[in-house]
Amino acid sequence: QLSLTQVVEHIRWNDGLVPAIVQDAETREVLMMAYMNRESLKLSLESGETWFWSRSRQELWHKGATSGNVQQITSLKYDCDGDTLLVEVKPNGPACHTGEVTCFHNEITGLPETSKQASEAETRFAVLGELESVIAERERERPEGAYTTYLFDKGVDKILKKIGEEASETIIAAKNKDNDELRLEVSDLMYHLLVLLQERKLPLDDIMSELSRRHERPRRD
Ligand code: AMP
Ligand code: ZN
Ligand code: ZN
Ligand code: ZN
Repeated sequence: QLSLTQVVEHIRWNDGLVPAIVQDAETREVLMMAYMNRESLKLSLESGETWFWSRSRQELWHKGATSGNVQQITSLKYDCDGDTLLVEVKPNGPACHTGEVTCFHNEITGLPETSKQASEAETRFAVLGELESVIAERERERPEGAYTTYLFDKGVDKILKKIGEEASETIIAAKNKDNDELRLEVSDLMYHLLVLLQERKLPLDDIMSELSRRHERPRRD
């Protein structure tokens, strides 16, 4: 715990600037990187909200001043050699001016797939296989009060109707750029797709094999 004047001396200012990485204190997602100068660091400490130095506009920048997406600072750290700041925040909205939650939404693909990555993927997606077995058990045993029992009792038309609804809700959530809603709707959709596969006796394994077959021969679309 250091005062501002002490902190300023621990920081290796580069042309008067230091990069500040902004992280969501709750989700731990890295949200953005921007530069601070001494004045913006002072304003950040005093106000408890992020202030930066905009290099393009050459002015102090209170994040969220126009968008309303201010970031309330919950912790502020500098690294071992004092050349980078880490700012943990509670964001009031998306960090990126594009409306994305994080500025880091451009995934670069094509990394070599190590066996470690492959087995991590297997354990991460194991829940799909477990869900498939639970759904199969519900179809066999029809326990009373279970929603899956209700779907199988109603039959395939009901299942198809639900898939249509959940697909529409997925589209709406995506259009609204609401990723909390999108997470829920895609989960609803995937669950109902698994119920359909069970009703049609099409194993999830067949879908996975089809996907990996396509993946092995990349096509240019
Ligand atoms: P805001 O600070 O959110 O009110 O946004 C004001 C302006 O700052 C935007 O129009 C952008 O030009 C810029 N801006 C906002 N957020 C970012 C960001 N995460 N990275 C770079 N520039 C940003
Ligand atoms: Zn460093
Ligand atoms: Zn951005
Ligand atoms: Zn839904």
